[in-house]
Amino acid sequence: MIALNGLRDGLDPESPEYGDVIKKITGYLRDSSDPEVRARAADYLGETGDAVVLDALREALNDPHETVRVATRKAIEKLKKAQRPLKDNYGTLICGRDLFRPKKIHTREGQFVVCRVCGHSKFLEDGVKEVVGIIGDAEYSWRQEDRLFISMWDEKTKNARNADIDTLWITEADDLNYGWAIDAVYQKLQNDVTRAKPISEIPVIIKGVPELSEEEIEILQNFGGIKNGI
Ligand SMILES: [Zn+2]
Repeated sequence: MIALNGLRDGLDPESPEYGDVIKKITGYLRDSSDPEVRARAADYLGETGDAVVLDALREALNDPHETVRVATRKAIEKLKKAQRPLKDNYGTLICGRDLFRPKKIHTREGQFVVCRVCGHSKFLEDGVKEVVGIIGDAEYSWRQEDRLFISMWDEKTKNARNADIDTLWITEADDLNYGWAIDAVYQKLQNDVTRAKPISEIPVIIKGVPELSEEEIEILQNFGGIKNGI
């Protein structure tokens, strides 16, 4: 029990150990031979309000001990309470950790909203109506009112990023190999089969006059239409 009590302080979402602490507490809930410890573990998981613990709690609803089942039901109620603001703002939520959109999971205990990639609900922030992916800008991500901008290509490491973008901007940049960047970003988006929005529904806006070849334009035609913007 002492080891479990110590873990409670680690349940700080700001802490880098947060995910590990949740895993350890989940371990106690599943494997401890002491029903008191299992009940306490369920309690702590409920306190997080983070739906990432939902599966572990749902499993514990079948615990042989009544005390554990009662604690587990209470914990699930706490998760549900924490879900309310998320459901109201579903369309504008974004995970502050990895910048992905949420998904809904349907269970016998109700519907829950979690980040579609990391599975946490704790890091979901509201107010992002549009995610703009950019090829041609070095800065990784920034927010401007209800828009989130994400640089899709890192020229230094030559790596494309995946993100739940609503629009793709191609901006003017010096020393950028647009061919590589556009192809890599396209592949990256295309390979993500769980994406909510298909590529054909993501419009491309070309800002300024970046030097694009025929081949690059051809790849961009797989997106949801090319427009010139200012
Ligand atoms: Zn996430």
